[in-house]
Amino acid sequence: MLAKSLNHLISKFKGLMPCQLCGLDPQQAHSLCHDCWHDLPWFNQYIQRRHCRILAACCYRFPIDRIIHQYKYEQQLHYQTVLKHCLLHLALPQVDAVVAMPISRQRLVQRGYNQMQIIAQSIAAQHQLALWQPVIRTAQHSQKGLSRLERLQAIDKQFQIKASEYRRYQRVLVLDDVVTTGSSFAAMQQALQRLGCTQIELACIAVASPKIR
Ligand SMILES: [Zn+2]
Repeated sequence: MLAKSLNHLISKFKGLMPCQLCGLDPQQAHSLCHDCWHDLPWFNQYIQRRHCRILAACCYRFPIDRIIHQYKYEQQLHYQTVLKHCLLHLALPQVDAVVAMPISRQRLVQRGYNQMQIIAQSIAAQHQLALWQPVIRTAQHSQKGLSRLERLQAIDKQFQIKASEYRRYQRVLVLDDVVTTGSSFAAMQQALQRLGCTQIELACIAVASPKIR
């Protein structure tokens, strides 16, 4: 009862807050006003990258590119609401657990948070799913100067599975923010296959150059 009236109060309060983009009209549950939400560069389709099928909510264009950048690198954590809602807006497949794209310990120390872990946690809670972290990412070195093959081998080595997590969940949804080449998703998919997952779904907030294969 108390939770219900609290939720009612929070949504009433949100309705009084201005949109996080234009600052003019009142914000909706996704934290933007009706028009700003409607005008996001929606994509809502599957793309193919490195033999992976990835569901993408938006194109990596203004203003979602700026929102993701500020959320990820400038501690603008209030943008988690709109980014989470971009993913919730997709017809997400039925799974048992949600997995955030892991970042290395070094990146975690620099940034202070894994931006996708925060969003994945919230989505898992909303859908009453488990949040699962079965893969560790080792140092993410710059890949400049490496050949294509060297780059792929280097990224594969970055994803190390926790053997203790073997077959804990069969159907999983992996979430990432931006997809360019898809090599992180491909490496993650391989690691999860080795862990015994039978259905691995991939989704991202935004895809860069969706036409390029
Ligand atoms: Zn607005």
